[in-house]
Formats: sequence, C-alpha cells, structure tokens
Amino acid sequence: MLKKWHLFTPGPVPVHPKVLLAGAGPIPHHRLPEFSAVISEIRQDLKYLFQTERPVFFFASSGTGAMEAAVANLFSPGETVLVVRGGKFGERWGEIAETYGLNPIYVDVPWGKAVRPKEVEEKLENHPEIRAVLVQAHETSTGVKHPVRELAEITRSRDVLLVVDAISALGVYPLPMDEWGLDVVVAGSQKSLALPPGLSFIALSEKAWSRVESEGLPRYYFDLRREWKAYEKDTTAYTPAVSLLLSLRESLKHIREMGLERLFAHYSLLSEACREGVLALGLKLFAEEPCEALTVIELPDGVDGGKLNRILREKYGVIFAGGQGKLKGRVVRITHMGDQSPLDVVLALSALEIGLSEMGYPVKMGAGVSRALEYIKEKAREVSA
Ligand SMILES: *Cc1c(COP(=O)(O)O)cnc(C)c1O
Repeated sequence: MLKKWHLFTPGPVPVHPKVLLAGAGPIPHHRLPEFSAVISEIRQDLKYLFQTERPVFFFASSGTGAMEAAVANLFSPGETVLVVRGGKFGERWGEIAETYGLNPIYVDVPWGKAVRPKEVEEKLENHPEIRAVLVQAHETSTGVKHPVRELAEITRSRDVLLVVDAISALGVYPLPMDEWGLDVVVAGSQKSLALPPGLSFIALSEKAWSRVESEGLPRYYFDLRREWKAYEKDTTAYTPAVSLLLSLRESLKHIREMGLERLFAHYSLLSEACREGVLALGLKLFAEEPCEALTVIELPDGVDGGKLNRILREKYGVIFAGGQGKLKGRVVRITHMGDQSPLDVVLALSALEIGLSEMGYPVKMGAGVSRALEYIKEKAREVSA
C-alpha cells in the first residue's frame, strides 16, 4: 500500500484536488484570445484577494522572485532601505538589498518577537535618506505577525514606501492593501494561496509605481515596465506558467464564493485551535505575537526537533517543518495554510503527542487533542466551511 502523507510544512502546502485537476488538462497557448480571457478573469479576482484597485502582476518564479522584483524596480543604486530583521525571511530582504548594491539599515528584532513600530519610526526620523521599509507580514521562520497596519500609518505620510512580503499571509489574515496604504504586497503560490509552487505575485500602489517609472536597478525578466505594457493587452511579457494559472483561476473562484471574511475566520479557527492544544500540553509557543499561517512550538530541553520530525515522517507519514538558521532543532513548525479543515489540526496535535511520547518526553497523550476538539466544537459552528 502507498503511504499516506500528511503535509504540515509552511510551503509547499496541501492543494485541493479540484485545484490540481484544473491545471491538469491540455496546455492552451498563452497568446490566444481564449487565454487572455483567463488572464483577465484571474486579474479581476486577484484584485479582490489583494483588496486593491491596482493591477496585480505575476511571474513564473517562487516567492523570492517577486521579492527581488520589488527591490530591482523600486530603487536606484546606493539608496538606503530599512529592513525589519527578525527571522530568516527578514534576513532575505537584507541579502537581496545588499546584492543589488543598496544600503540596508536594519531594525534587528529578537527572533520570536514582533517589531515595535516606534523603533521603525525612530530610524526614519534619524535617517531621512531611508526610501522604504521592507518587512514580512508573517515571518514564517518564527511564526510572528508583524504590525503591518501600524507601520503603514508611519510610512503613509512620508516619502517612504512600505514593502510587505505577504508570502505566508495574503489570504490568511486581513491585509487590505488600499485601505491600509501598503505600497507593495508580494505573494507566492505554494504558501497562503494554497497552490503548487511556481507563481509569485506583486502589487504596487501609485506611490510605488512612480518609483518604477523614474528609478530602478538593472533588471530584465523582472522589469515591471514590460509587464505593465503586457498587462494592458491581457497578457504577460513572457511565457506564463499556464497550468498553474488555470489552477489559480479555480482557486480564486472559490475564494470569491467563500468571501475573504470567512476565509480569514477559517484560518483564525485553525491556528487558535492549534495554539490551545499546544498550551494544553504544557508546551510553549515560540512567537510572542503568533500569526495565523502556522504555529511554531518551542521544544522542551532535551527534545531534538530534527529527531522528532524524523520519527513522525518515517513512522507516521506526518511532515512538520523544523527550525531554520539558529532555530534548527529547537522548534517545530506546523502550518495551517493550504487545503486543511479544523480536524486536520487535531491530527497534527496527535502526531505531536505521539512523537514527543516516543522521545521519552512525559506528555499526557490526548491532552492537546482534547483541548483542540473542545475549542473547535465551540467555534466551528460560527465559521463552518
Ligand atoms: C517561503 C517564504 C519566502 C520565500 O518564498 P519562496 O517561494 O520559497 O521563494 C519568503 N518570505 C516568506 C515570509 C516566506 O514564508
């Protein structure tokens, strides 16, 4: 018998069969009018998802591609940017900025904590040369949610852009781009959009777009000026990932039917149920301000995350993610993104319990599961999917 796998990694995430099948048909030609109609439909629905009137562009790349596109299109050589660095993906913003010859200034945030808006404000006051703030909405390596809305209140009235990596946040919790005044929102397919890997997205405010016209670093594939021209003709500058776009169209159709509010309530339920279960087991959450995309659990002393994950994978077919960078071995990460229902949280918790127990940690088996079930029973009525 084939092994049944349970994927709880924060990218890739489980994809609904209907969405997979939508991309499994014959390949249409991307320059034909029929496919332009598909692109047009997708673009309308993406505006709904990003909560913006602005165009949303997509590339055939992983999420990092759209992060690179943001940097390459918005700045000129040597310009200064402020990078919120509180995890692996904050570090990535800094690495991209350095690669492109920018001058990044860092707000270093202890891993597990959210950035304090006041600190960002102070940096902006002391460094008037800063042209943008680069931040994650959800820092996937630590499970922290940064206060994006408060940051936008700071950047809004200044000649400073707020560039938000929402690769694990868009569609999971509210990030109304226009209403909050987010200048750039970046997303990726295999995380919060619950699709296979291979698509990235970027939307820019008018304020950000004016920089694209007047500035920019060397760029070719990621040149947004070319994409804009193609956009006006309902196509893309280069060959798009057609199969993934067909899957995306299917997924966006269901998101529209469900509505963003219910979608956000769904993720809120899953993440809260998981946190309740974890706490009931006497374990600690790693994030002080936990996000809805995933739960990061601090492991007790003596429990190695790598070993725990190996037992779960090999014996039970459950795949959690381990810690990245300095968190290697110290945490496990359980995602709520993708095609999951509330009872999948219960499965994840049961795996955590049995795994810890196998490692000799005195866990009261069933305690986390029981608490999560109670929580779900109480709340699921309100958000039944
Ligand atoms: C996964 C992730 C990325 C990188 O995305 P890739 O698709 O792996 O390139 C960047 N930022 C955040 C917050 C992520 O979760």
